[in-house]
Amino acid sequence: MPQGVLTSYKQFLPINENTPIFSLGEGQTPLIKSRNIVKIIGCRELYFKFEGCNPTGSFKDRGMVLAVAKALEKGVTNIVCASTGNTSASAAAYGAYLGLKTTIIVPQGKVASGKLAQAIAYGAHIAVIKGNFDSALSIARELSSKHPIELVNSINPNRIEGQKTAAFEIVDDIKRAPELLFIPVGNAGNISAYWKGFKEYFELGFSKELPEFHGYQAAGASPLVTGKVVENPETIASAIRIGNPASWENAIKARDESGGLIQSVTDEEIISAYQLLASNEGIFCEPASAASLAGLILEKKNGSDFHDKTIVCIVTGNGLKDPENAIKISPASYGEYQNDYESVEKVLVN
Ligand SMILES: *Cc1c(COP(=O)(O)O)cnc(C)c1O
Repeated sequence: MPQGVLTSYKQFLPINENTPIFSLGEGQTPLIKSRNIVKIIGCRELYFKFEGCNPTGSFKDRGMVLAVAKALEKGVTNIVCASTGNTSASAAAYGAYLGLKTTIIVPQGKVASGKLAQAIAYGAHIAVIKGNFDSALSIARELSSKHPIELVNSINPNRIEGQKTAAFEIVDDIKRAPELLFIPVGNAGNISAYWKGFKEYFELGFSKELPEFHGYQAAGASPLVTGKVVENPETIASAIRIGNPASWENAIKARDESGGLIQSVTDEEIISAYQLLASNEGIFCEPASAASLAGLILEKKNGSDFHDKTIVCIVTGNGLKDPENAIKISPASYGEYQNDYESVEKVLVN
């Protein structure tokens, strides 16, 4: 029986007797052991932390459940967020469960259809703007500063607190921290949250080691790599199409304190990792989520030796979020056959 993040990790979260406790079943996501890609990488062990198994299909639920609980604790019944899609789907779901008014601000034409479908179905109030994520976020910030509305983007510290539980789960599952953690980076809340989580568990003695963080941005949206804000970020990986990450400094801190790096991968590299993950491991993720594996493959190609390493790739969201890209990108092997047994039997040799 999944108990959810608030119950499972209560003592590590800012929860008191006035904090409402509830769950849509977030957290306890599988750490899937690689059977096939591990051979390409040549590492000791490779795991995929599949966050697509959260109730709305992305890791955002881990932080959202706490952000919403803390808003309710204060007596706030309106929440707002800017979103490339997954934050809004998550906010809308918890808003619906708790009877809150949820307002979401999304960039026009930039949100994958599955995510928009979720926000609509959950009954959120949706403002579509002719602008990018970064301007949506600045509008959401202003709304929450002028009205009694809780901002539930990852600049809300409760989002980070909730999301750090994914790091706890990894250590709880493999009884140690991996040597290397690969993670997609957009607004940079998640990389900050994982670093906080691993550090806290380390300081409490639950792990004897800290992972080295390898963050990956999309080449067309890689401000943390170039050190410069990107005015018009472009990538197929819409969840990380962000030009001015809100958690910039904390991402750099995670990189430097862990002795790791933040680099970029091209859309081609992302797509190829995305296909490999689905067709070789049975893990269907959205394009942004494949940036972690794309980075690992790139480093392998560039000559890194991982033979004595345990590696975890964070797979941030579910492939069903973005069905258009799945169909467009993947080399489907289907054909039309006549409606009789003999014709269809030929599919076996095709
Ligand atoms: C939000 C999101 C990201 C990026 O996380 P940040 O905290 O913004 O860096 C990556 N992948 C998916 C699927 C997401 O929803």
